[in-house]
Amino acid sequence: MIPPVDLSLQHAEVAAEVAAGWDVVFSKTAFVGGPQVAEFEQEYATFSNVAHCVGVANGTDALELALRAVGVGQGDECILPTNSFIATAEAVARAGATPMFVDCDPDSFLIDTKAALAAITSRTKAVLPVHLYGQLAPVEELRDQGIAIVEDAAQSQGATRNGLNFVGDIAATSFYPGKNLGAYGDAGAVTTNDSALAEKVRLLSQHGSAEKYVHSALGFNSRLDTLQAVVLQAKLRRLAVWNAQRAAAADYYSTLLSGVAGVRLPQVLPGNSHVWHLYVIRVPERNRVHDEMRANGVGAAIHYPTPIHKTEPFATGETFPNAELLAGEILSLPIFPGITRAQQERVAEVLIGALA
Ligand SMILES: *Cc1c(COP(=O)(O)O)cnc(C)c1O
Repeated sequence: MIPPVDLSLQHAEVAAEVAAGWDVVFSKTAFVGGPQVAEFEQEYATFSNVAHCVGVANGTDALELALRAVGVGQGDECILPTNSFIATAEAVARAGATPMFVDCDPDSFLIDTKAALAAITSRTKAVLPVHLYGQLAPVEELRDQGIAIVEDAAQSQGATRNGLNFVGDIAATSFYPGKNLGAYGDAGAVTTNDSALAEKVRLLSQHGSAEKYVHSALGFNSRLDTLQAVVLQAKLRRLAVWNAQRAAAADYYSTLLSGVAGVRLPQVLPGNSHVWHLYVIRVPERNRVHDEMRANGVGAAIHYPTPIHKTEPFATGETFPNAELLAGEILSLPIFPGITRAQQERVAEVLIGALA
């Protein structure tokens, strides 16, 4: 069986370092807010070429805290693409605002920026471009509208656009285990160049308190766990290499599959350096092809089978033709650092067999 993601290879590389780092935490018993958290925050900020990083409990909290930090609340509208993981919309709703869905570009799968601009109303407080599958959305097209740009960077750790990692006001990322930078449990972070926004996120994430037992805002308990910070420090040191391995694997798929009838390969926007969180192709009869691949030992996956505006909690009755079309055609091929050429050749062979 070739799995969609194999985390055991990454674990083998960092296991000794993580065990040693965890021993230090155990011996000091500083399980919350140990020095490793601040170290990792600094290291991730440096890696992302951004001034501030605040570690939090998971990516969904990171999005909600980023939204609240820019002032999103009751009665506001936030614009987001419907073809994302549901967490993007959950964060908006949890902040008290209304998610306003827009369609995606059919080639890049990224937010349709023209539709997003057209969706702005007097109530719009923020837009959430999602850097889906590992490439940055054309965020520059959304600037200067008097609304905040809150990036969903859960899938784009290390990605750049026109040489920049960071293009909006504030970004939220997730260190869910399967992400490019994955913890050994839930974790996330908010990044920004704005020190006031960073302070706001930090305040909200620890019970609205900058000073122990002084609470100046209604906050949350959403901290980055010290044990997870140790894992993330060890993995971050290798992330550039791992992202390069993903890019090499993506290139090889594109070589193996170019010219195969029926297969549409992923498109990279000009100016983008893609980190290939997922390698997503389009195929006809996707469900049948997917089933047949699984039956032949290839664990392809679908990200995501249902656009958010068609899920029960967010059903709006609207129609978004590109997102709905894509949801029926997309197929994520196995990709992870350490995937072998032989595994990729087998994936291509089984896929081509299933298409015939
Ligand atoms: C993973 C993910 C999230 C949520 O992150 P969690 O850490 O699971 O809460 C949000 N948005 C996108 C696009 C994601 O892929």
